[in-house]
Amino acid sequence: MQIQQALQWAAGQFTHSDTAALDARVLLCAVLEQTQTYLYTWPDKLLSEAQQQRFNQMVEQRAQGRPVAYITGSRDFWTFTLNVSDATLIPRPDTEILVEEALRRLPDGPSAICDLGTGTGAIALALASERSAAQVTGVDFQPEAVMLATANAAALNLTNVRFIQSSWFDSLAGQQFDLIASNPPYVEQDSEYLQQGDVRFEPDSALTSGADGLDDIRLIISSAPAHLLPGGWLLLEHGYAQDHAIRELLEQRGFSQITTARDLAGQPRVTMGQLDNPS
Ligand code: GLN
Repeated sequence: MQIQQALQWAAGQFTHSDTAALDARVLLCAVLEQTQTYLYTWPDKLLSEAQQQRFNQMVEQRAQGRPVAYITGSRDFWTFTLNVSDATLIPRPDTEILVEEALRRLPDGPSAICDLGTGTGAIALALASERSAAQVTGVDFQPEAVMLATANAAALNLTNVRFIQSSWFDSLAGQQFDLIASNPPYVEQDSEYLQQGDVRFEPDSALTSGADGLDDIRLIISSAPAHLLPGGWLLLEHGYAQDHAIRELLEQRGFSQITTARDLAGQPRVTMGQLDNPS
């Protein structure tokens, strides 16, 4: 098959996907080890037999619903490509909003940053790459995630970030930061959303958090003040209907400058606050 035919055929198999044509391009790029520009430049080029076989296998997996990032083993985030595995959540473009909001609040000089529930390391790595004088600590309770994030840091040559195994703040006793960021699990346990699309393949531990989805966020907000330096910031990603509850929780815990940023679809997505008087 030619590149163009292969793309058309594959996209036609992905009837369940909202991004069928893009899925096909990303998979073919992975097989050919080329960028998408190459696909547009050489639409008539024939796939080798080995390439065709590999592509067919990938298309079959995608047709069965498996997320593209788990099939290729990688996903673009911020300015780089991350290795992913099915032990972690696949990084989302919406999380780049959290990174942008964090960068607005971080000094150019030295700072201490923490990313809770780091998964692939996405947030920690993006902040470490933009703030070379910062020391970034990413934690995850899953050893597989810690290994994956550590490998991602090495692949990106980032030396100002370390990853440790910890359930939220459990292994961070006595440590304080200028900024704590987290994209914790926040989906309601019984949400119908979990039965559809790519999230069916992602780990429940990275997605759900109790009946209202706020169990982990409550825990993080209540423990954060002890781990923030004076003037330190806490930034949390959350679901589109959770911003009111989270602003209230932050206020109760003594945070000020509380604001919510919207995601690419215009929904409330990241809520943050500053701590004046750490306890
Ligand atoms: N933002 C994710 C989604 O919409 C949910 C991930 C999370 O709970 N942190 O699928």
